[in-house]
Amino acid sequence: MKGILVILDGLGDLPNKQLDNQTPLEAAHTPNLDFLANRGEIGYMYPVKPGYIPQSDEAIVSIFGNELISSTRGQLEAKGAGIKLIRGDLALRANFATIDSLEKGNILDRRAGRTLTSKEARILAKALNKIELPRKFIFKPTVQHRGALVFRGGFSDNISTNFIYFLKGQDDKIKLSKPLDDDENSQYSANILNEFLEKAYKILDKHPVNEERRKKGLMPANYILLRGAGIEIPKLKFYKNWLSVTYMPLEIGFSKISGMKVFSFTYPKLKKLDVYDNLYKGLKKACKVSIKTIKKNHKKFDYAYIHIKETDIPGHDNKPFEKKAMIEYVDKTLFNFLKKFAPQKKIKILVTGDHSTPCKLKSHSADPVPVLFYNDSVPKEKKFNEKEARKGILRKIIGRDLLNKIEFV
Ligand code: ZN
Ligand code: ZN
Repeated sequence: MKGILVILDGLGDLPNKQLDNQTPLEAAHTPNLDFLANRGEIGYMYPVKPGYIPQSDEAIVSIFGNELISSTRGQLEAKGAGIKLIRGDLALRANFATIDSLEKGNILDRRAGRTLTSKEARILAKALNKIELPRKFIFKPTVQHRGALVFRGGFSDNISTNFIYFLKGQDDKIKLSKPLDDDENSQYSANILNEFLEKAYKILDKHPVNEERRKKGLMPANYILLRGAGIEIPKLKFYKNWLSVTYMPLEIGFSKISGMKVFSFTYPKLKKLDVYDNLYKGLKKACKVSIKTIKKNHKKFDYAYIHIKETDIPGHDNKPFEKKAMIEYVDKTLFNFLKKFAPQKKIKILVTGDHSTPCKLKSHSADPVPVLFYNDSVPKEKKFNEKEARKGILRKIIGRDLLNKIEFV
């Protein structure tokens, strides 16, 4: 093996009052990342371009050297969820969400409070798949509140969808899908989506699962938010002889379409209400599977792409201590292993985030992410964090240039 790329989702952050004006990465005790930084080079990256706030799919697509328009999130998610797609199928990423009512139309939570158990999602999905529409479709729940929705055959994806990236308290109204051109098929596709959304609400809102949730004081998962409409199978650069350790549908789908061999695992089920308990279980498994996969396969593959998803979530929830703790956990496990393994085998290590998710903003931001490139060189850099990265030898990097610029591949 020549190189291992580790993406820590949503890694970048801003100084946080709760952490004495440090970022979670600055505040975290990360001796192993710092060891790698010391014997390498650091810099900072705009995953898509300066001033642009990337979603995860846009960021990964760019970091692997692709044009943004060459893929859509819906197609990547559906592929990752294991749904077979043919050209013309309309694929979308779906969230179970909470609204007050269809009439009032206020979105109360984009993820049904992050408390939807795997079992509840499965039961609700089953009910959704019974909706009668003029066209065939499949709804597949994936991890927690997430799912993929595919309408079969002959659609247009030039339509708007109803996902809102940030709830501001006002203007958080549900929106209908609209055609974005004069094509009849776009109008038709938007109509089908709207019919699905209305029927979905009617089924979900009074479903026994949601009645139970209300009794427990939980948010009902009574609405579906959609994004990333796509009908074309993405045309992505091909990465031969790469393995990928990914476990969320988006990253699995991206890896598969990019020609990588995916080593995945089933995400621990969310059984109880503590979503962070579930996230730590997932994180633990992700680090363990990554180490095992590298140990077993480093002779068979040239490169590895490891994507750790959990670090993004505390940013969305404004939990800087959780973010710090997760970074420390990955340092203690995965990077402790890599620190020993990489020098012996002469493997280069590249560590970065797909975008910043500053805790205080509770959403992705346009702030650059720190980049660490370990190449076993003479010690120079001090520590791996946002502040040091700004002064690092690699300087400014644009996502699309990353792998070539530092001669990782
Ligand atoms: Zn992300
Ligand atoms: Zn995110």
